Amino acid sequence: MKHLGQHAIVIGASMGGLLAARALSEAYAVVTVLERDALPRSDIPRKGVPQGRHAHGLLARGRTVIENFFPGWTDAVVACGGVRGDIAGDVKWIGHGVTIESTPSDLVGLLASRPVLEGNVRRRLMALPNVRVIENCAVQELIADDGKSTIKGVRARISTGVEHVIAADLVVDASGRGSSSPAWLESFGFAKPEEERIEIGVGYTTRVYRRRPADLGGKLAVVIAGSGPNWRNGTILYQTEDRWIVSIGGYFGDHAPDDDQMFAAYAGSLPTSDIYDIVAHAEPLSEFVRYRYPAAALRAAGAIPWGISGGRRCPVQLQSGLRPGHDGGGAGSRTAARMPRGGR
Ligand SMILES: Cc1cc2nc3c(=O)[nH]c(=O)nc-3n(C[C@H](O)[C@H](O)[C@H](O)COP(=O)(O)OP(=O)(O)OC[C@H]3O[C@@H](n4cnc5c(N)ncnc54)[C@H](O)[C@@H]3O)c2cc1C
Repeated sequence: MKHLGQHAIVIGASMGGLLAARALSEAYAVVTVLERDALPRSDIPRKGVPQGRHAHGLLARGRTVIENFFPGWTDAVVACGGVRGDIAGDVKWIGHGVTIESTPSDLVGLLASRPVLEGNVRRRLMALPNVRVIENCAVQELIADDGKSTIKGVRARISTGVEHVIAADLVVDASGRGSSSPAWLESFGFAKPEEERIEIGVGYTTRVYRRRPADLGGKLAVVIAGSGPNWRNGTILYQTEDRWIVSIGGYFGDHAPDDDQMFAAYAGSLPTSDIYDIVAHAEPLSEFVRYRYPAAALRAAGAIPWGISGGRRCPVQLQSGLRPGHDGGGAGSRTAARMPRGGR
């Protein structure tokens, strides 16, 4: 295939950045991924991906896309403790207080910890001959040409404090919800990208519990979406053969407490008792971890925002298909981008 250019840079080596780099590896002679974090040698959570401590699963389409990018990837995740599951047959979905009837399907999803999903993508990407991933390297700003109309590369700082300008034909921003792209574009004289924002005050509290195969009637996961009048939601997912991960939460500050009894009481307030039955009786294997953000947002930006850099959406709504405000896709999904016009 004829290359579109010599060099593409991707900012951020989380799911969005890694998958963007894989796609670009077919169209650019060299792809460089710049990541601010030190990348862990084993599959453990890291600072730049705080959501990595919370429940994650991959729906069928996402798994298929990644498997097509990296044949054998699903088997590798399973070898790390994950499990394939029939999204419709092995998962209990509850929305609007109604349990959707389980039925076998050919929709094969994947359950594993977030670090295991990401680590297996990263290792496969780094094995590609024309891709390099530079860790401990924080992008400071985009570099534009003299007319400030074309992005020519980035200025990045490595852990020693030394800064480098790295030239590129294309820069993809996959730096997540804290992306500086809007500010960088504004500094070039473009209009600040519009942001559609809905205050939701969402918060999740997560803990890992001992799993026994007979738990939950043999289901691999239960997903309870919040819907009026009870907006509390919860997810319990197979993480490894002997571990459940439970994330429960709510909106507008109605968050699950990080206290044994109050966490169980909160789980008991969900529309079904599936999560409560585990939380109240199974052995806890971790501390509580909390995650909060004030608003769901969708940005229209001027560079190419990838993954969640284009905004932030509530994952439980996304996974369940129940969404009071926004549409989107979760890990590996693409967010629409358009150039702001007339703002210079
Ligand atoms: C509680 C919770 C549960 C979720 N559950 C699911 C789920 O079950 N399934 C699912 O598909 N999705 C789920 N999601 C969504 C999923 O986690 C995100 O969509 C996905 O991680 C976004 O990936 P990303 O690469 O776009 O951004 P991020 O994961 O935010 O990664 C951004 C990366 O950029 C790096 N970075 C930031 N700034 C710079 C810089 N200046 N220079 C260099 N590097 C930088 C960061 O260190 C990080 O590595 C969940 C999210 C949350 C919050």
